[in-house]
Amino acid sequence: MSDKPEKFIDENGIRLDGRRVDEIRPMTVEMGVLTRADGSCYLEWGNNKVLAAVYGPRELHPRRLQRPGEALVRYRYNMAAFSVEDRIRPGPSRRSTEISKVSGEAFEPVVMKQFYPSAVIDVFAEVLQADAGTRTAAINAATLALVDAGIPMKGLVAACAVGKVDGQLVLDLNKPEDNYGDADLPIAMTEDGDITLLQMDGNLTVEEVNKGIEMVREGCEQIFAIQKAALLERFGTAEEEEVLEDAELQAELMSEEEEVSEAAEEEDAVEESEDLEAAETEDPEDVEVEEAEAMFEEDVTEFEVNEEEAEEEAAEVNEEDIASEPEGEESTEEEGEKYEQ
Ligand code: ADP
Repeated sequence: MSDKPEKFIDENGIRLDGRRVDEIRPMTVEMGVLTRADGSCYLEWGNNKVLAAVYGPRELHPRRLQRPGEALVRYRYNMAAFSVEDRIRPGPSRRSTEISKVSGEAFEPVVMKQFYPSAVIDVFAEVLQADAGTRTAAINAATLALVDAGIPMKGLVAACAVGKVDGQLVLDLNKPEDNYGDADLPIAMTEDGDITLLQMDGNLTVEEVNKGIEMVREGCEQIFAIQKAALLERFGTAEEEEVLEDAELQAELMSEEEEVSEAAEEEDAVEESEDLEAAETEDPEDVEVEEAEAMFEEDVTEFEVNEEEAEEEAAEVNEEDIASEPEGEESTEEEGEKYEQ
């Protein structure tokens, strides 16, 4: 087992696996993977790999287990011996018995048991690879396996855990957070938001529990969307799938556009700050000197141009003067010179 990390959340609010505190791990689902089962679903959630299979409704034996007027929903959660680092002893354990009981009960309000009196609906959840949050992963897969089997349900059930590390609430705990965190609160709920499973390990204040439930609600909204997309893929018509693909494409484009505009904004901000830095690092005296030099150069060239023009004008004036000078005036000058002598 790995050692306890020094910090679970860095100064930017990012967790060890790169997620924000309110982000769930990536989830993929595939329905109808087992041909012998009436309904099935394979689900991957982060490093968790879970297979759910539903058999029934079918006749329940021994008969003494039958429930008058409604079907019995039997849920069996099991971790494969190879699903964790150290091999697990095969067969039921206290932990798996407890998880099976509470997970089965999580479906009580949605499965319409009254339609199948005395029958049994068997749900098997096999954890093939465990990495924290296996009971919630199994519930998410089992919901789709039940729908795949055609069991009438009032709606879907989604499940997700919230916990506490570094004094902060975090959604969908990963393995180190689950192992070394201060609390683990797995919750399952219906689409109406009714909580059908709530367990708690560790310590949380009432405010933290309430905030945690709200965080799980947000997470479950995302899980419901993933489940509905999987249902549409399996049972939807080509047109419905097209609509979904268009919506997904639209959402992708929008998020890409957002990313691009965010990147552009960041670039602008970086450029602005660089300009600002450059302006700040420039000595204001240097700027003044440069400006003065530029002005001086302008003046000098203007002056040179003016000098040239003045010379040209003077030359023209002289030529004109000489050309227009009356002869008599010359003799007057000569006369004046004579007087001086
Ligand atoms: P959950 O998987 O629903 O979070 P727990 O909190 O009991 O249930 O377990 C957390 C994780 O600890 C499991 O997902 C699994 O990775 C690991 N784990 C549970 N039981 C065992 C076991 N007997 N041996 C090894 N690892 C186990």
